[in-house]
Order: sequence, then C-alpha cells, then structure tokens
Amino acid sequence: MRDVAGAWRRTADGAGLLSPDGAVASTIFAEMTALAARTGAINLGQGFPDEDGPSEVLDAAREAIAGGANQYAPGIGIAPLREAIADHQSRFYGIALDPDTEVVVTTGATEALASALLALVDGPEDEVVVFEPYYDSYAACVALSGATLRTVPLRAPDFQPDLDVLADVVNERTRVILVNNPHNPTGAVFDRAVLEEVVRLAHARDAIVVTDEVYEHLTFDGPHVPVASLPGARERTLTISSGGKTFRTTGWKIGWITGPAELLTAVVTVKQFLTYTSGSPFQPAIAAGLRLPDAFFDGIAQDMRRKRDVLGAGLRAAGFEVFEPRGSYFTVADAAPLGATDAQAFCRGELVERAGVVAIPITAFVTPGRRSEYATLVRFAACKRVEVLEEAAARLASLSG
Ligand SMILES: *Cc1c(COP(=O)(O)O)cnc(C)c1O
Repeated sequence: MRDVAGAWRRTADGAGLLSPDGAVASTIFAEMTALAARTGAINLGQGFPDEDGPSEVLDAAREAIAGGANQYAPGIGIAPLREAIADHQSRFYGIALDPDTEVVVTTGATEALASALLALVDGPEDEVVVFEPYYDSYAACVALSGATLRTVPLRAPDFQPDLDVLADVVNERTRVILVNNPHNPTGAVFDRAVLEEVVRLAHARDAIVVTDEVYEHLTFDGPHVPVASLPGARERTLTISSGGKTFRTTGWKIGWITGPAELLTAVVTVKQFLTYTSGSPFQPAIAAGLRLPDAFFDGIAQDMRRKRDVLGAGLRAAGFEVFEPRGSYFTVADAAPLGATDAQAFCRGELVERAGVVAIPITAFVTPGRRSEYATLVRFAACKRVEVLEEAAARLASLSG
C-alpha cells in the first residue's frame, strides 16, 4: 500500500483534519458545535448569524433561480456582479477597478484565499507572514501550498502588532503578508500605522499583500480603511471580501478578490481548477446587496455594535476581562479572573456545564508553540439575535456566583 505518512489525515475522533506535521487541526469547531447541540447550550462558538439578511438580497436569489440562472456562470463571475463589486470599491473607498480585469468572483473568501496562496507561493523557502491568532484556514492553506508560515503575535488588550517584531519577521523570503482587517478572532481593527508599515515592508521585500476584509462593513469606530487605499499599496495588494458576513448569507459562499490584473491572472489560473465557478443564482443577489443604500451598511454596523455591547456587558458581569473589539463578529475575553488556567478545559467544562454557553478557546487559532501565551482567552461570537445574547448573558452570570 502507498505510504500516506506525509499526507493530511483525519483526527482520531474523525471530526477534523491534521496536517502532516500535526500543526493544523480543526477539531474544536466541530466539537464545540456538537457539544452545543448535545447539551442545548447557546452556541457562541461558530460565527454565523441566526437571522436572515435583507429581503432584497434573498428575493433576488429566488428570482434568479426562477429566471433560469442555474447553470455554470463564467469562471471569473457574471459581469453584473463584477461591476457591482467595482462600484462598491469606488463608492466606499475611492478605489477605481476595471471589472473585467481587476475583479474575480470566488467561492467565498475562503477560495479566494486558497487560490491566492497557491498561486503566489511555491515551496518551503517561500514564507507567508500572518498575524497570530489567525483565522483557521490561513495556516491550513499555507500548509497545503507547501510554504512556510511565519507569525507575528497580537497581544491583549488591543491586539495591535509590535511593529519592530513585524519588521523583523518580514524578510527577503517573504512572498506574502496576509492581513485580516477587521480581525477574526480578536476583533481588532489595525491602526493606520500598522497598515502603512505592512505596505512599506512589502515594498522593501518585494512581497505581495493579501488582505482579507470580510468584516469591512462591521466596524464600530468609523469607516473601514482598505489596505489597497493606502499610498503605494495598490500595485502589490490583493483584496479579498465576501457577501457572507455583510449580507448574513454565510451559506452562499460568494466572495471576490480584486487587485492588479497580472496578479489576478495567476489567481484565476488556480481558481479554475478548484471550483471553476460559483453559485450562479447567488451572484446577481449579492450584486443587488452591494448596491443597497448607505442606510443598510450603516445599519448593520450599528446593529453589530449593539450586540457587541450586550455580549460585553454580560461577560463583564460574569467576571471575565473583556477586550472590547473595534470590528467583526467577535469578542475575546479572558477567563483567568474566573480561576481558569486552560481555556480549552474551561470551554469543554465549566462554561458549557455551569453556564450553558459554548465558545472557542483562542488556542484554536494559534500555532502549537504559542498556545501557552493565549492559554486563558476565549472567543465569543456576537452575531446572534439580541434576545439570544441577553439569555447568554443571564446564563453567564451563574459563573460569578
Ligand atoms: C468567515 C471568514 C472567512 C470565510 O468567508 P467565506 O466567504 O465564507 O469563505 C474568511 N476570512 C475570515 C476572517 C472570516 O471570518
């Protein structure tokens, strides 16, 4: 039989995947969702909304299906969606894009990310720099691409990177600096100085910036600043976003990637052999969403901010130390004041048994060697109905008693 020792494999419990070096495991998300289902706990683990998005968007998908948009769309996406994406970047950020050469529709931000990494990096001598903790697919995709992952830690309370460390980690082998802003899991929105330093280093080392901005419309202290809008950034930045978080359609998997035409050509070369094309009837629907009036976009940011506040108040009252997020679906809290020494044990034990709430330990988002530095931090998702968050807050109060 073929030796598969170096292959990706299932974890012992069958719930997740392990990379060949055992560094990447996704068990905790499946485990926690199953735990919530089994115990009736409120699931603040996985980041998906529990309410539908705008009816204009949902209706447009139904109409598209009824109208026959049910076969393969063009590989780079239908023209009306590419035009809506280009208009969106111009309307919100003043970034002008050619919808035919500088915009590609993908199967979620996830595929955009995978295609970009597979297109841009080659082997172990190529390095990808990411901030840590990181969205779980980053380390997995870097591992699949065969490149080397280098991380720059983000630390509580504000989770901004140390710029000296960043300048030290980025070196002549760096091919990609991968930025996620607003940031999952920490809820950080990076200071302009951080983004400017990323751009400066990318120039100095001839690296490409890949930026994941899926929470672009969920910022709490003012409008989002895309990396590509900074001076000198545009020609070496690939910007990724998605309709999932903005329009509460995480199950539709319509994402996009924008940037210089020659970089996108490389991305499309890979993308065509991953999924080839994505959800035909969802594409016109997301186009309709991107053209919604400003009031919609202001409304979702305000709604998310209110939810953050309800969740944060509940966590504080329960005795957690809360690191107030400036964007995204998430809030990170420290369980150490409650006596926890290991957030993984805390999430599997006390949190679910005593409070009936499920959340994810931050150790799920860091490299094995750094787990001890984040040992007592927990990520809670705030993208749930206010009644659900209030019920979670009431339950969490039992932890302080
Ligand atoms: C949810 C999420 C994604 C995945 O987006 P899809 O469009 O569902 O693929 C990518 N990046 C971050 C940071 C996310 O939180």
